[in-house]
Amino acid sequence: MEKVKTLIIGSGPAGYTAAIYAARADLNPLLYTGMEPGGQLTTTTEVDNFPGYPDGVDGPTMMIELQKQAERFGTEVRIGHVNNFEFSTVLGGSHKAYVEDGTEILADTVIISTGATAKYLGIPSEQKLRGGGVSACAVCDGFFYKGQEVAIVGGGDTAAEEATYLANICSKVTMLVRKDQMRASKAMQHRVTKTPNIDLKYNHEIDEVLGDQEVDGLRIFNNLTGKKEEIKITGLFIAIGHKPNTEIFRGQLDMDEDGYLITHGKSTKTNIPGVFASGDVQDKEYRQAVTAAGTGCMAALDAERYLQAL
Ligand code: NDP
Repeated sequence: MEKVKTLIIGSGPAGYTAAIYAARADLNPLLYTGMEPGGQLTTTTEVDNFPGYPDGVDGPTMMIELQKQAERFGTEVRIGHVNNFEFSTVLGGSHKAYVEDGTEILADTVIISTGATAKYLGIPSEQKLRGGGVSACAVCDGFFYKGQEVAIVGGGDTAAEEATYLANICSKVTMLVRKDQMRASKAMQHRVTKTPNIDLKYNHEIDEVLGDQEVDGLRIFNNLTGKKEEIKITGLFIAIGHKPNTEIFRGQLDMDEDGYLITHGKSTKTNIPGVFASGDVQDKEYRQAVTAAGTGCMAALDAERYLQAL
C-alpha cells in the first residue's frame, strides 16, 4: 500500500493551487485528477477574469499551465478517479483512499477539491451548442455577448444574480422561469424586476435551442398554454443549479442540505481531522476560479499546520 503525506483529489484551480503550496512545503503531494482533468474550466473558452492574464487565456491552456506549475515543485499528478474513502476519525490517523484501478493509498492528510458540476437542461440542441453560445457561467462568458441579446434559464438566486449581471453588459436579457414565481430571495427578485432590459417570462421553458454551429435563437413555450414562439438571441445561459461532487463522502463528511462540504470557520477543515476541502465543493456562493485557487492555497496551509502540530 502506498503512503503519502498529502493526497489531493481534483484538478481544477483549487486542487492545483493546493498542490503548488503543498509541494513547496515538502509535503510531496499526490494528486488524482478525477474524471474531468482540469475541471470546469476546461469546458469554457476564454478566461478573462483570472488575475495575471492581461490578454485572457483559454481555460484548457490555463489548466495545463497550473498542472505544470504544480509538477515543477514535485507534485505527482495521476489521471484517475478515487472511488471511495475510509477516513480515520483519530487525530493523526491515516485516511485510506481506493482508486478505481485497484490502488490503495494511505494519506496523512487529504485535500478534497472535487468541484461541482453545473446542471444542464439535457435537451440535445443545448448539448450540441455548449461552447457555441450555451454557457453555465455568466460571469465567465457574459462579456463575449456585450451589446447583444441573450437569454437565461432559472429562477433561483444564481439566475437572478446572473440576469442582472448580464443586463449590465447585454442589450436585452430574456429570463425564463418555469414556474409562476421565482425561487430567488425577495431582494434578488426586486433587482430583476427593477432592471428595465430584463424581460421576465414566467411559465416559460425551452423547446429548442436554434443554430447550427452557434446559437442564433430559441424556441420557447408557455407551459400553461402550450403556445410556442421564437426569440433571437446569441447567448444562452443555464442557471438551474450546480451539483457538488461529494457522493463518495456521504455519511463520513458533514454536508449541507445541498451536498456541499461544510468547512469550519474561516478554515478549510472538515469534521474529520486531517481532511480539508477547497474550491467549489465547499462553496456555492462565489464559485470563481480565483476564489477556488484561494481556498486551495488555504487547504495546503491548513494541512501543513495540521502535520506540524502532531
Ligand atoms: P437553486 O436550486 O436555488 O435554483 C435553481 C432554479 O433553477 C430554480 O428556479 C429551479 O426552478 C430552476 N430549474 C431547475 N431545473 C430546471 C429545469 N430543468 N428547467 C428550468 N428551470 C429549472 O440553484 P441556484 O444555483 O440558484 O442557488 C443554489 C444555492 O446557492 C441557493 O441556496 C442559493 O440561495 C445560493 N446562492 C446564493 C447567492 C447569494 O446569496 N448571493 C447567489 C447564488 C446562489 P424551480 O424553482 O421550479 O425548482
